[in-house]
Amino acid sequence: MVVLKFGGTSVRDAEWIDKAIAITGKELGRAPVLVASAMGKTTDRLQEIAHLAGGGEREKAVEILKTIKASHLEVARKFITGGNLSECTESLEHLFKELGSLIKGISLLRDWTPRSNDAILAFGELFSTIIIAHRAGELGIETFFIDSREIIKTDSTFSNAQPIKELTNSLIRDRIKPSSGKLYIAQGFIASTKSGITTTLGRGGSDYTAAIIGAALGAEEIQIWTDVNGIMTSDPRIVGKATTIPRISYKEAAELAYFGAKVIHPSTIQPATSLGIPVTVRNTGNPGGESTWIVAEVPSEGPKALACKKGITVINITSYRMLLAYGFLRRIFEIFEKYKTSVDLVATSEVSVSLTIDNTGHIDEITRELENIGNITIEGDKSIVCLVGLGLWKNPQIISRVFSSLTEIPVRMISLGSSDTNLSFVVPDKEVDNALKGLHRIFFE
Ligand code: ASP
Ligand code: MG
Repeated sequence: MVVLKFGGTSVRDAEWIDKAIAITGKELGRAPVLVASAMGKTTDRLQEIAHLAGGGEREKAVEILKTIKASHLEVARKFITGGNLSECTESLEHLFKELGSLIKGISLLRDWTPRSNDAILAFGELFSTIIIAHRAGELGIETFFIDSREIIKTDSTFSNAQPIKELTNSLIRDRIKPSSGKLYIAQGFIASTKSGITTTLGRGGSDYTAAIIGAALGAEEIQIWTDVNGIMTSDPRIVGKATTIPRISYKEAAELAYFGAKVIHPSTIQPATSLGIPVTVRNTGNPGGESTWIVAEVPSEGPKALACKKGITVINITSYRMLLAYGFLRRIFEIFEKYKTSVDLVATSEVSVSLTIDNTGHIDEITRELENIGNITIEGDKSIVCLVGLGLWKNPQIISRVFSSLTEIPVRMISLGSSDTNLSFVVPDKEVDNALKGLHRIFFE
């Protein structure tokens, strides 16, 4: 069997839903399960609704609800007909009514909690899959609709719920019986607790759902359908000559994702990777085009891709004492921990520590506390550039080529990475595009 997951952009309107169904139709012989995200930016809109309702602004929330409703009904009417259409719109109307009541309840009570937030966000995937299922039926495909909340059981960490593995696996196997010629359709992202309270797996969590289902059913392959040709050597909006990486290891994909490559979050495919199930990343808009296989092992070492993270802040701490006393680093990191601010890169010398953060929400408090430890300087408007590839450090030539391409660019911190999969360094924001282009030329063109 295969799992095909279509992200929000891949099901954004009637035309794209048809592309997704056509792609899935070609896999009917392989007993497919289709997992879909909410259409386009629906989840963002629902998030606005939750926010407004939580603040008691029911009218404004209902305005957005109306636009979501109108756009979904419009899509349904475009390509679903007759009794099938009435059934589809009835199911949608029913859900919209439920969402309306939820908005009312939340805004009356101003009860905006992670739990009520999840309850609202979950509607997006229900709407999209109802439409997809009815359209697939309209096209003559034998379709089985699954409510993912009945098969994916989680703890009650709302907004970032963790699946209960054994229970979930057995429910999936009970409810989904993959079979050639039949199409199962399920929602990504949404789940529920043992007692049936709706949860979500975190934003972007549909990949996770696909991996969980694929792992439980021993899929041959998990296909992640998006709107780019797989994972690229760099961001094509910055580096015009970026190309698709045909094969990448799980480890490399993980490094890339942490550094801003938006294609896939590797922790979300972990259930599949731990079983050695290959994950492919493909373009719904160009199904026959290039794609990427994410696999356990790749045959070749060396540079694979470049990523960057812009808008980074560097904090330098110089100890008041001449030499770093023990406990110095611990004291520093405790401050970041206290303000829940994660640190990306760290470089230390005998008397100073430099580190980078991307969330500056608590920078004033952090600075104030750090000043008890040492002298602080802050440098904003920086970017991290990251070269990813297995075994980068085995080949000293790679390092010298990196720096020879950067002679014109002031490089700040350098981190060799504790894995040998990543070489990262900090440059001014305004130089990052040039740094990426230069490195891309050297390694990939
Ligand atoms: N619809 C959810 C989101 O936008 C989940 C997903 O797309 O994977 O985050
Ligand atoms: Mg996504």
